[in-house]
Amino acid sequence: MNDSFGRIIDYVRISVTDKCNLRCKYCMPVEVDHYEMKDILTFEEIEYITSCMAGLGISRVKLTGGEPLVRRGVCDLVGMLKRIEGIRQVTLTTNGILLKENLHRLIEAGIDAINVSIDSLDHDKYFSITGSKDLDTVTDAVVAAVEKGVKVKINAVTAGISLTDVSDLIEFSRSNKIDVRFIELMPIGYAKCFDSLAHDRLMDWFCQNHPDAVHVSADGNGPAKYYRIPGYDGKVGFISPLSDKFCNSCNRIRLTTRGYLKSCLCYDTGVDLMPLVRSDSSKEEKHEMLCTAIRKVIMEKPSGHDFAHTQNITEKLPMSAIGG
Ligand code: SAM
Ligand code: SF4
Repeated sequence: MNDSFGRIIDYVRISVTDKCNLRCKYCMPVEVDHYEMKDILTFEEIEYITSCMAGLGISRVKLTGGEPLVRRGVCDLVGMLKRIEGIRQVTLTTNGILLKENLHRLIEAGIDAINVSIDSLDHDKYFSITGSKDLDTVTDAVVAAVEKGVKVKINAVTAGISLTDVSDLIEFSRSNKIDVRFIELMPIGYAKCFDSLAHDRLMDWFCQNHPDAVHVSADGNGPAKYYRIPGYDGKVGFISPLSDKFCNSCNRIRLTTRGYLKSCLCYDTGVDLMPLVRSDSSKEEKHEMLCTAIRKVIMEKPSGHDFAHTQNITEKLPMSAIGG
């Protein structure tokens, strides 16, 4: 459906867990208290809410977290969502640590694409960002997924990485059919304490180093600006929410682990769907209540974020609980 600014809202990001097996310094750097299982949406509740959304025009779903693959049975959830009438695409974003062992089940369940987060291909740098020494496990999983014909994109947040890291990741896309996207850090949660590589500087560097790169039209659900470098199998994308604000084409809503439906990362406004989906009302009443709430969130979606003025950011949750 269209929001009040005429934007088509057809995409939902669903956080299936607030837990993670990594400790990225800008996201979840320390041990944090996690929600109890009884306080997070069950797969059946996610399925039900998604079917209501599908009736309102949501056709694409991204499963995220925390780390979605740490929640047992998440591959089954992929299958459950794929079977909902109106849902055309179910994708996943993961840190890749558990990807290889889940790859077969994800493919069987019908996953349409997988985004893997790798900020640096340098082992020490990767460790300093994520606290993990398992970079090879992640890159092996990426290669295995591509070999199995899965559409894979690498996401690299440009916080704490250098232009050498950027260059290494672009080279990775040269001989692998993988798009690499560089994401400007948003001042949410722990990330408020970090600076991102300025994307205007990054773009200048990219244009100087790859003068033959051509701008190509976007694909997928996102706001990335893509470039194709002649001779490279994968494309290079830039997602720059601060230096190149794309709110006027935003197409998404977000469902948190605890069932709170949000319309913008920047603000805490939205509607808590948990009491609605758990109410004792009749099936018809419940469906109506949920659809009314989802419509309200979409209609009240703000025109844009205001990350430039940190005092106006009302969201207090860490990215891992919202689902980045
Ligand atoms: N654990 C999974 C992963 O890392 O892909 C899924 C959840 S993670 C929150 C989703 C994406 O959000 C990752 O690519 C991560 O790097 C990114 N991210 C986390 N905090 C961010 C921030 N403050 N600004 C921009 N992207 C962020
Ligand atoms: Fe975990 Fe993803 Fe956050 Fe890193 S970015 S701590 S992998 S949820």
